[in-house]
Amino acid sequence: AKRAGGGRHVRFAQAMRERAARRSDIEADLRLALQEDQLFVVYQPVVALRADGSTDYSAGVEALVRWQHPLRGVVPPFEFIGIAEESGLIGPLGDFVLQRACTDFQSWRQSLGDGAPRLLAVNLSRAQLGQAGWSETVARILAQTGVEARQLQLEVTESLAAQDAQIQQRLHELKALGITLALDDFGTGYSSLASLHLLPVDTVKIDRSFVSQSESSEHHRVLIEATVKVAQSLGMSTVAEGIETTAQAEVVRALRCDKGQGYLYSKPLTSDALLTWLASHRTG
Ligand code: C2E
Ligand code: CA
Ligand code: CA
Ligand code: CA
Repeated sequence: AKRAGGGRHVRFAQAMRERAARRSDIEADLRLALQEDQLFVVYQPVVALRADGSTDYSAGVEALVRWQHPLRGVVPPFEFIGIAEESGLIGPLGDFVLQRACTDFQSWRQSLGDGAPRLLAVNLSRAQLGQAGWSETVARILAQTGVEARQLQLEVTESLAAQDAQIQQRLHELKALGITLALDDFGTGYSSLASLHLLPVDTVKIDRSFVSQSESSEHHRVLIEATVKVAQSLGMSTVAEGIETTAQAEVVRALRCDKGQGYLYSKPLTSDALLTWLASHRTG
């Protein structure tokens, strides 16, 4: 038994070394990726679910980063965002995404006018807020690209929004620019409806895990309904994430979610593909 345990220990140590090596490979590759333009941004439409049953397809988009790796192909964010956060690369990565997304957003306004998406959502990591004066970077990118502050929404997670006083201060600095904040993945963290009023957010994004069970589970429908009611009472809007079926869309619409996002409408698209999608989904 002792020998077997030792074997497990050796195998475990070996697995740890392999993991660490893989991480530092990804980190080195990511550093290069930032220099060599291998990162790009895709956009998933966020639609407005009107109470009359109609849908407004140009309500907004969420920017999502992708990595075109020379050998591995397109690498999804869950494989590198964590590493970027731990290695300090999230700063330049996040600035790249914001700059590119604002540039693309402005180009849609030029080509589509009133038919362009009205809100641009960009994900924010805790490490980005750690940088003193980051709100000045945001202000500079807005000024350079011509995007209005009220058109930009930064998405933060519950654990981030509930953080210490310094983080709260940084979030308020951002809000002072005129941008809005969304609480991402709501329902998956440890904070609750009761503490929603403590967070400086304008929008609550209800996590996909609730939406995907909304057809089969009364419990999940009740949770969505309660979230919408509390958010409304605080003057916050709601987005249902990960809508994959028409039935789910109708459930969240009936529960008065303001907006929806998910594969039912569209997967994340390149800037060009988004223009084509918008052209074929004109709001009636
Ligand atoms: P998220 O912010 O919750 O983004 C939504 C994720 O759900 C995206 O995955 C999107 O492609 C996926 N999704 C959307 N609709 C559906 C659906 O109907 N069904 C299913 N199964 N999935 C759907 P993605 O693009 O792989 O991003 C994963 C996570 O990586 C994001 O989760 C976000 O936390 C992070 N991320 C992505 N881009 C950035 C970025 O630029 N900066 C930072 N800090 N994080 C990012
Ligand atoms: Ca998000
Ligand atoms: Ca989310
Ligand atoms: Ca997520």
